[in-house]
Order: sequence, then C-alpha cells, then structure tokens
Amino acid sequence: MSIIYDKYNVEEETYVKALILSRGIVFSEKALKVSVLEKAKGQNLVYNMPLNATSSRPQELIIKNVGDSYSVVVSCVTGNPTSNPVVLDVNEEGGLVALVEGEKVDNIEIHFVEEPDYYSVNLSNGEPVKKYVSACGLDELNIIPWKGCAISRGCRFCGINNFVKPDELSAHRISRDSNEWKQVYEEYLDNLEEAVLIAKKSECYKEHAHVILIAGNLDNNNLDFESEIFSSIARRVSPLVKDISEEGVVVVITPPNNMKYIDELKKAGIEKVVFNLEAITECGFEKYCPGKAELGYQFFIDRLRYAIDVFGKGNVWTNLVFGLETVEETLKKCAELTSDGVVISANVLHLDKGNSLDCDVPSTKDVIDFFYRLEILNNQEGFVPFYCAKALRTSLSNEAHAMRIKGRDK
Ligand code: SF4
Repeated sequence: MSIIYDKYNVEEETYVKALILSRGIVFSEKALKVSVLEKAKGQNLVYNMPLNATSSRPQELIIKNVGDSYSVVVSCVTGNPTSNPVVLDVNEEGGLVALVEGEKVDNIEIHFVEEPDYYSVNLSNGEPVKKYVSACGLDELNIIPWKGCAISRGCRFCGINNFVKPDELSAHRISRDSNEWKQVYEEYLDNLEEAVLIAKKSECYKEHAHVILIAGNLDNNNLDFESEIFSSIARRVSPLVKDISEEGVVVVITPPNNMKYIDELKKAGIEKVVFNLEAITECGFEKYCPGKAELGYQFFIDRLRYAIDVFGKGNVWTNLVFGLETVEETLKKCAELTSDGVVISANVLHLDKGNSLDCDVPSTKDVIDFFYRLEILNNQEGFVPFYCAKALRTSLSNEAHAMRIKGRDK
C-alpha cells in the first residue's frame, strides 16, 4: 500500500511526514490529553521554537507503517497561513490518527515521542543531566556546550539567540573573553562525562544513538578556538559512546579559519564533520546567511573540500534549509558538490520565532520531489544519509534512501 502523490508513490508514514513538514500540524483537545498520557517531550528551547507555539507544545511524533513497521519521527511543525494543516485526533479506540482534509490516513500507527527518562535525572552536583545532553528526534544525543550564536549577523531563518538567559554560558560571553570557557571547561567535561554515562542507558538509545556535538558560532575571530574546544570535548566523549553511537561523534560546526584545526578535529576522534551552507547558491547564501557570507561562500567550499581529504568521502556533510531556494537551482548546485565528495541533506524550512524571512515554506509537492532527486545525486556517489529516519525529524533524506518515495514510472 502506498499513496499516489504527483509523480510519486509515497509510503503512508513518509507521506504524512512530508505533509506535516510542509503544512504543519494542529492537535485536537483529545490528542493533547493523549500527549500527557504518553509523556510527550516538549520543546527543547535550544535553537528554535515554532512560531505561535508554547514550550509545552509536543515536539515530535513517531509514525509507524503497520505494513512493514518502518518508522519515522517528525517535528510537530506549526501551521502556516497558506495551507491546511494536518489534524492529529483520536479514534474511538483511543489511538492517534492523522486527518488530511478531514480524511484519516490508513495503515499507520502514531505516538508522541516520549520525553527521555534522563530528562528527570540530576547529576551528583544537583544539576539536571539535560543541561549537558538532550535528544532531538528519538535517538540523537546532542551535546551543546553553550547557548546562542555570536556570528556577526544571524541567519535569517534562525531564532537561536531567543533562548539565552543572562546568567548562562553563551557564545557571546566566550567570544568576548575566552577565560569564560577556560575557567569552567574542566568542570564542564567532568559533568558532561557523568551526564553522558547516565543518558546512554536511556530507553531511547537502546537501538543506537547519534552523538552530535553542535553549538552556535563563536564570533569570526574565535572559530579556531571553537574547533579547539570541540576537539577537547570529542576527546573526552568519543570513548564513552563507542558502544552506542551509530556513526561515532559527529561535529556540526562553522569551519575554522586555519585549516590545520580540521586535522585536529579528526585526531580528536571525530568521525564525521558537518559544515552547513544552509543556502547552496552563492546568492541565496549571501541573502539568508549574511554572517556566514562575511566569512565567504568560498571559505566554506574550500574547507568542505579540505575536510574530504582529512575525513574521506562520505564523511563530510553539508546541510541545507530547503525552501530558501527553488528545487531546480538547489539541485543544480547539489550535483556539483556531491560530485566533489560532499554528502548533502536538508531540513525543510519551518518558521521559527525570531526569523526574518521573506519566503514561505515549500509545498508538499516540492518537498517530495526534492528529496527524491537529492537521493539520486547522493546515491550516484555511494553516499548514505547520516543518522536515521527516527533522528532526522525535519528531513526526508533517510526516507528517500530507504525508497519510501518511488517514481511512478518504476
Ligand atoms: S550560524 Fe546561523 S543557523 Fe547557525 S546558530 Fe548561528 S545564526 Fe543560527
């Protein structure tokens, strides 16, 4: 069973995920009651918070195809003014159902993604484990050493600086004075180690974990220092997560000025690096990522290429925000970069608090078409998407790779 959508046959769970990512989702009163019973994870409030949402809004759903048990996780994106959102409701048996234009989608089972058990556990010093590690999707284990982003001008889709409290360690404070980090890092690493050892026993990581070290940028003069910090964290964490991590430690970072720090990231035990372009055409990059553009489009391309020599093909990734640019112009540039050896994925643009965009989210048709054709480009080079369909909650890269979207002529 699958659903015919435009030029494609799409499996039901992937169809509903694509709809939610492009149209958003609203909850009936009964569905919200189920979210309490299922102990749904609320908003992480680290990078983003959907427009018109509260922190208690359930963050993610897991949707399983009852035919073959293939499961995906999707972010509970809020509705947008231009299309009818998916409605999450409850059937007579008390199960969650997805309604599209009032019609129930069959052949799927839906649950809220539960708050990981370690979210309610404290370290021996009384601090919450969640201060050091958190989960995106079902099974990402995110390490985010500081709050906020000190890039000279924020990317226009990003609301990261909305969540920094004055007393928290932030990218701005460390950029102003590196001692802010140097004074705390030994204690930070000890606490992080304890947090990782507690978190890794969680039910959500029983299959595997995707261990991701990520944070907003330090300012442009401190990018080498940022790489040094990430290397020191990776050296400590990498041995702790060997038994649960699917792809070793992945680092998402703006690349350093001095390329020798890319070698240092590798020596620290990092397996994969992600330097995000966000917008892949030079013109889109300058428009939507004005702070990154001050470093230069070529700065990123040169470092992606250098990283391929250090980490090897298939281990260097760039992520895009699909919707900032058209399908055709995006795929044209993707073809150039994948043939250079860069793995490409994308999140579907959603509107967060703090964005200053002039574009709307992409249509469902474009989302499905884009990820299907992006997979062809990655596949030509033998690249496999990072993480899994239960981790990447705003992307269809894994679903396309798993052939949950098929061309109708095949
Ligand atoms: S570099 Fe851009 S996308 Fe990344 S955290 Fe900073 S503002 Fe947000």
